[in-house]
Amino acid sequence: MSEKQSTVIEEYLLLLYHLRDAGEKLKSVTLAHRLKTKPPTVHATLQRMQRDGLIKFDKKKEILFTNEGERYAKDIAFRHNLAEYFLCNTLNIPWYEVHKHAHLLEHAMTPTVVEKLAKFLEYPEKCPHGNLMPGYSLPAGNFTLDNTPENTFVEILMISEELEDSEEILHSLHQQNIIPGEKHKFVSKSNDLLTVSLEQNKSKVIIPLHVASKIFVVEA
Ligand SMILES: [Zn+2]
Ligand SMILES: [Zn+2]
Repeated sequence: MSEKQSTVIEEYLLLLYHLRDAGEKLKSVTLAHRLKTKPPTVHATLQRMQRDGLIKFDKKKEILFTNEGERYAKDIAFRHNLAEYFLCNTLNIPWYEVHKHAHLLEHAMTPTVVEKLAKFLEYPEKCPHGNLMPGYSLPAGNFTLDNTPENTFVEILMISEELEDSEEILHSLHQQNIIPGEKHKFVSKSNDLLTVSLEQNKSKVIIPLHVASKIFVVEA
C-alpha cells in the first residue's frame, strides 16, 4: 500500500468510526456525501478496504468493520484525539482550529511517537471538543442540546466530530462560549426559527437547530 493510499484508507476508517458512533447507517452514499467525493471513487476505495480485510458488507449493503478494521479505526481515532489534545493543550492552538492540523498529523505518527505522546500528555480521555478516546463513554443521562427541557442548567459535554469539519461553526460556538465544560441555562427552543437560546450573563445566543442536535450536554 502506498503512503497516499494508506492515508485515504485511514481517513475512511476514521469517518466510518465516527458515523457509527453517531448512530448513523454506514452506507457508501453517506461517505460520498461527507467526503464530498464522487460515489464511484468511494466505491473503489471501499472495495479495496474489503479486499484488505478491513470491512465487509451485509445483505443491506451496509458497511461493517472486521476485527482488524475495528482495531485499526480505534487506533486512528486515538491518534487523532491525541494530536488534537497536544496541539491545543501543549502548543496552545485554539480548540476550534486543531482538528485540521490533527487530520494531517494523525497519519504521520509512528507507534513509538503515539506511545510516548500519550504518556507525556498523561493519557487524555477526550479531545478538546469532548470526543472520547476509544473505550470511554459519555456520562449516563446525556442528551443533545436541541432536546433540552426549557429552563434547565446544562454542562456542554461534547461537540460531535461532524461539526469539527466546519471551523466556521466551531469558531462561532467559541464566540458564544459554547465550549466543552462550560455551563449554561437553556431557555427555549423555537421550531419555526430552528434556533435554541441559552442564557449566559443575561445575554442570549442563538444556535441553529441542526448544530444544536450535534452538541451533547448533561444536566448541571
Ligand atoms: Zn477532530
Ligand atoms: Zn476533536
